[in-house]
Amino acid sequence: MAWSDKVLKDPVHDEVLVDDPWLWRLINTAAFQRLRRIRQLGTSYLTFHGAEHSRFTHSLGTYETMRRVLAHLRRETGWPSDERDRKLALSAALLHDIGHGPFSHTFETVYPVHHEQWTRRILQEDPELRFVLDEVDSGFTDDLVHLLGKQAGSPVIRQLIASQLDVDRMDYLLRDALHTGVSYGRFELARLIRSLTVADGRVVLKWQALHTVEQYILARYFMYTQVYLHPVTVGSDVLVGQILRRAGELWADGQRVDMPPPLAALFADAGEVSVAQYLELDESTLVYAFHMWSHGPDPVLADLAKRFLHRRLFAVVVRPEPSSEEWAALRTAARACGFHPDYYICGRTTGMAGYVSLGEGIPLLRPSGESTELSQVSRLVRSLNVDAEYRLFLPKELLELPGPLGDRVRSIARV
Ligand code: ZN
Repeated sequence: MAWSDKVLKDPVHDEVLVDDPWLWRLINTAAFQRLRRIRQLGTSYLTFHGAEHSRFTHSLGTYETMRRVLAHLRRETGWPSDERDRKLALSAALLHDIGHGPFSHTFETVYPVHHEQWTRRILQEDPELRFVLDEVDSGFTDDLVHLLGKQAGSPVIRQLIASQLDVDRMDYLLRDALHTGVSYGRFELARLIRSLTVADGRVVLKWQALHTVEQYILARYFMYTQVYLHPVTVGSDVLVGQILRRAGELWADGQRVDMPPPLAALFADAGEVSVAQYLELDESTLVYAFHMWSHGPDPVLADLAKRFLHRRLFAVVVRPEPSSEEWAALRTAARACGFHPDYYICGRTTGMAGYVSLGEGIPLLRPSGESTELSQVSRLVRSLNVDAEYRLFLPKELLELPGPLGDRVRSIARV
């Protein structure tokens, strides 16, 4: 059948245009379709109920942003003149998150196989995806892997894929702002794209774009402080981490834990999991496991799983890290309430990587033709530094404990 362009409706970009049948074949692989079953923002939907969008929609949006950037640069500078470069840039944008698993940032803290390693393995080892990538030429997959691994490839494509002004961020800031319902993540994408140009073999912003890029950096600042590092979301991540840790420890100890096969493989030996097994792991697998565990024989695992499923999250307290005496008092109070202190009291330091001026800073092209780094000329950008914050997570029941033990917990929690 003759090819006709595909136009997909999109809540952020209005339309996503797929004008190349090869890209359409990539989109229709099982590995890419799996991203429909992984939420873009992990547990954020427990904080912002609209945050149900998937990595699938974000990946298509990242591709569309790249497509528009390339169309603009091509008109303006003639780059990319090479069809292979165009395919590399578009497929890198489309597939950059293919290695993500369910609640992946939490998962990675418990089972230390990084999603970027999975990206590499999926691109190289998944037969269906590999078959489509090999249609370009036999070296294409390796070039794509190196590009996504930030090891090699055209500096312009690398910047567009992974820098402080990359198409990934441009899409996720707008998309996450839209779906969480916050307004401060917005910025003028079309104007930002029009401001891009290439000088000395790298992407730079035109001088007139100063305020547009400031708005983009501010959007990023607000999204991190108000959405990505929201204490309730961090607390939900902590809970998922504790569930996985408990389940893994019981499993390693030979105790009975109902386990979906892909998760069993991961718990047995994360390094030995095949790509096919990993691709079977998505949020539905994990949530199904949580349901089984909520009815299982281990009271700690059952309670933690129920807390997640029914959104009975830990309370969060912002304060300096407790002293060893304070930790001991909290652990005693936890035991008195029947909670295993190793799983029910935990702390996290959260901070934000602010705008980085060195190395990967955002270059602006002065009218004189020289380029300068953004923070050199923007006092606003220089001022956006966020201090790290310590957060203590514990069951609400501990804060309501009567008597002197409860008083001690409340004084530590400063409530
Ligand atoms: Zn992404």
